Amino acid sequence: MFIDSHCHLNMLDLAPFDGSLQKVISEAKDMGVTHFLNVSVTEKDYEPLLKIALEYDNIYISVGLHPNENPGESLDLELLTKNAQHEKVIAIGETGLDYYRSEGDLSWQHERFIQQIELSKQTQKPLIIHTRQAKEDTIKIMREHNAQDARGVMHCFTEDWAMAKKAIDLGFYISFSGIVTFKNAKDLQDVAQKCPLDRMLIETDSPYLAPVPHRGKPNYPGYVSLVAKFIAQLRGESVDTIAKKTSQNFFTLFSPNA
Ligand SMILES: [Zn+2]
Ligand SMILES: [Zn+2]
Repeated sequence: MFIDSHCHLNMLDLAPFDGSLQKVISEAKDMGVTHFLNVSVTEKDYEPLLKIALEYDNIYISVGLHPNENPGESLDLELLTKNAQHEKVIAIGETGLDYYRSEGDLSWQHERFIQQIELSKQTQKPLIIHTRQAKEDTIKIMREHNAQDARGVMHCFTEDWAMAKKAIDLGFYISFSGIVTFKNAKDLQDVAQKCPLDRMLIETDSPYLAPVPHRGKPNYPGYVSLVAKFIAQLRGESVDTIAKKTSQNFFTLFSPNA
């Protein structure tokens, strides 16, 4: 029983599955995946994602605006606030800062990040934070805007232990994707070894970042099992322990159906 705590089901290549999302979900089930958090990257994702979530009891969604989407624009806070009320919406994001794919004056990214931290506190639905090449500013904004009152997850974490520790100290969880299985991901493997089990989540971020041995190919939610297996081996723990702990953490953090 694994949970894919971060995927983009609406972006998957369904061709190998005869165009059927049902088949993707059923393959994932065969690989032991029981629940999915299908993450929004823009406000427009709400309708299509909700449609999927209403068809499956075990698929939940988030509402939010990704730091690289609609560059320079402000977010539709009124719409996000309204859509966040649905019981299938269990998180706010993905939001955060990404200085890798955006440059110049990024105050618009900051503003949107802050607004989503506030929305998370207001709705009591945890944050999904995406951070890339923006360590200092991400932690700074989290601290200044009391993200510890919102709680949430540092998704597809790729930074070092020092950053992970700061997020953990703010009450956040660290989510590992297929990147942790990459040969050159030594720093990240160090984080996966040091991360307390009660703060760990796993994800695919599919369709991106397939774990070894599917690296470079399309990613699917079923492969979250490979992430769990890799981390288990790395830490010298049973796959069952990693599966149980990360699933428990998912329910503790997001309280779906609560
Ligand atoms: Zn992301
Ligand atoms: Zn994502």
